[in-house]
Amino acid sequence: MDFRSDTVTKPTDAMRKAMAAALVGDDVYGDDPTVNELEQWAAERHGFEAALFTTSGTQANLLGLMAHCERGDEYLCGQQAHNYRYEAGGAAVLGSIQPQPVENEPDGTIDFAKLQAAIKPNDCHFARTRLLSLENTINGKVLPLSYLAEAREFVNQNGLSLHLDGARVYNAAVALDIDVKEIAQYFDSMTVCLSKGLAAPIGSLLLGSKEYIAKARRLRKMVGGGMRQAGILAAAGKLALTEQVDQLKQDHLNAKRLAEGLSQIEGFSVNPEFIHTNIVFTKIDERIDVKALVAKLADDGITATAGNPMRFVTHKDISAQDIETVLEKLANYV
Ligand SMILES: *Cc1c(COP(=O)(O)O)cnc(C)c1O
Repeated sequence: MDFRSDTVTKPTDAMRKAMAAALVGDDVYGDDPTVNELEQWAAERHGFEAALFTTSGTQANLLGLMAHCERGDEYLCGQQAHNYRYEAGGAAVLGSIQPQPVENEPDGTIDFAKLQAAIKPNDCHFARTRLLSLENTINGKVLPLSYLAEAREFVNQNGLSLHLDGARVYNAAVALDIDVKEIAQYFDSMTVCLSKGLAAPIGSLLLGSKEYIAKARRLRKMVGGGMRQAGILAAAGKLALTEQVDQLKQDHLNAKRLAEGLSQIEGFSVNPEFIHTNIVFTKIDERIDVKALVAKLADDGITATAGNPMRFVTHKDISAQDIETVLEKLANYV
C-alpha cells in the first residue's frame, strides 16, 4: 500500500493492451495518429479549440505559463500553488516570468481584494501582470464553481488571462458531480494530469485556443519535450480519461473513511470539512514521533510520507479493505 501520492498508480491491463496495439508515427512531424486523436478528442471533450500532449504536469504548466507570458511579465497564483512551489521555479528560470504569489485562504481560494492589490500599475518600474493561475483541486480541496465564475469576472475586469492547473481537475468534477466542462468553461487554458489517479503511466494535457497551443507546441520542442512514437503513451492517456474517471468516486469514499477513522485515533486530528477528494491531511500530536511511525508502517509494507500534517493520498491501487488495515495498524502503534 503506497499512500505517498496517486502518481504511484500502475497502468491498468486495458492500458497495457492499448499501448501494445497503438498505431504510432513521429509526433514531432505530426505523424502519430494516436497522439493526434487524443489531442483532438481532448480539446473537444474539455471545450477548448486545441490540446497538446506533454511529458508531465510540470511541463504542461511551464508551457502554459510561457505561452501566456513574455519575459518580464508576471502571473498571480496562490502561495501554495504547485506551479509556484513545486516546479523548481521553472516559469522564472526558463520563461523569465515573475510569479506573484498571494496567500491562499483555508478553503484554497485566493481573495480577490488581495489579488487586486497585487496587480502592478502600468509603469516601467513593474513587471506586467498578465495572468491569474488557479489550481483545482488544491491540496485535495475543490474550488466552488461560484468562485471560478467570480475569477472569470475578475480577470475580464483587469485585462488578464486565466489558467487552471487542473492536474486533479477530474477529482474536482467527480466531487461536485458535474461534467469537467463546467469547470473548464471559465478558463483560457487548463492542464490535466493523466498519470495521477487516472493511472496512465506518463503524460499530461495542455488545453487552450488554436493559437495558444501552437505557441506551446513550439515551446515544448524548445524544452526538449517533443516526443516521437508517443502514441504508445497517448493510448493509455485516452483510457485514463474514458475508463478511469469513475474510480475517483471510490478513491474519495476511501479518503473520507480514512479521515473518519483517523479522527477516532488518539493523537490524530483531521478537519473533515476539507476532505473533498482523495487527499487527507492529518495533524499529529507532538508526542508521536512521525518518523518512527512511518518506519513502523514500512515494516508492514505500507509506504507513507513523514510530515506534520501528514498526507495520505488514496487511489485505485488502494482498496477499501486497505484503509481498514492501515487504520488498525495506526491504532495499534500509538
Ligand atoms: C502533480 C502536480 C503537477 C505536476 O505534475 P507532474 O506530472 O508530477 O509533473 C502540477 N500541478 C499539480 C496541482 C499537481 O498536483
